[in-house]
Amino acid sequence: MTVGSTDIPAPMGLLAELTHRCPLKCPYCSNPVELERRSVEMSTDDWKKVFSQAQALGVLQLHLSGGEPSARGDLEEIIAHCSTLNLYTNLITAGVGIPKERWQALADAGLDHVQLSVQAPTAEANDFVAGFDGAFRAKIESAGHVTSLGLPLTINAVIHRHNINTIEDTIELAASCGARRLEVAHVQYYGWGLKNRQSLIPTREAVLDCMAKIEAARERLSGSLVIDAVVPDYYARFPKPCMGGWGARSLNVTPSGKVLPCHAAETIAGLTFESVTEKPLAEIWYESESFNKFRGTTWMPEPCRSCDRREIDWGGCRCQAFAFTGRADATDPVCEKSTFRNRLSEIAEADAAAEEAFEYRSF
Ligand code: SF4
Ligand code: SF4
Repeated sequence: MTVGSTDIPAPMGLLAELTHRCPLKCPYCSNPVELERRSVEMSTDDWKKVFSQAQALGVLQLHLSGGEPSARGDLEEIIAHCSTLNLYTNLITAGVGIPKERWQALADAGLDHVQLSVQAPTAEANDFVAGFDGAFRAKIESAGHVTSLGLPLTINAVIHRHNINTIEDTIELAASCGARRLEVAHVQYYGWGLKNRQSLIPTREAVLDCMAKIEAARERLSGSLVIDAVVPDYYARFPKPCMGGWGARSLNVTPSGKVLPCHAAETIAGLTFESVTEKPLAEIWYESESFNKFRGTTWMPEPCRSCDRREIDWGGCRCQAFAFTGRADATDPVCEKSTFRNRLSEIAEADAAAEEAFEYRSF
């Protein structure tokens, strides 16, 4: 099938938000502001059907996420099913409330990889950001169980004003936990992140200092810890190729079964998303209006349309474009060619100087 100049390939990855329930309350959570409740979550059999359809569609990697995916008592059964389909399973977890026996059961079910979030490198700071006393201690225990089972571990650290100055300690923590990889992700400002931008966004100076410390640590820890990090959007010259392009490489399924091109796509007003409880996943991937809306390059306005980076960053993030300009088909305001770029920089500077308390994620 062809849309514009781009043949539609099969997706490589699927992010499954198994539940939006989570004991933590991170103020930048990537879940939507309108969280889906337990009563609308798909059943075990529904999820198994989704993963069987995903495998038939060509998906190779599953990211089992949430909320907190271990809040579902059927997680082992779901992983065992994925394992029989030869799908690579990556569990994205806060690591809270998972005792040693459950880690053993998850490993026995065939889990391939664990990505553990850490909010900050000390118990006090971590538990403050997470809004949950005891979270840090539980995470460190989980990291020990994961590595003692021989499962590969990645630490995921979302960076913002409250932890950017302790990035070196976060790096040391990841190394001492036995992680092979550290993903440093800066807060994305839509959904909860946008709600809390005035209390989360760091200054440009703090970002530059953080990136320099990461670069030094990369050299120091070369061969033992891989550190993934990119310059955060508001301080970058060009946007990132969000999701590798809209409807190009991966898809998201919400707890109730809605299929999204990216986890924040529901922030775009006017787009409707189909459910895997009503239509096959392949039909939604190839034929739905929502997936085809910003696929390829034919939807692009200028300056993207004639830009030589249009098949590198695919015009950037549609959710960010909508959040900032009110138009989902606008050039990502992060881009230096966008007419909104100066305004974005002014807002970043003003919000970085604001002293607001953040609002924790809640139902
Ligand atoms: S970001 Fe925090 S609140 Fe959101 S799902 Fe992850 S651990 Fe839970
Ligand atoms: S103009 Fe569009 S395609 Fe070109 S760099 Fe900016 S966002 Fe990317």
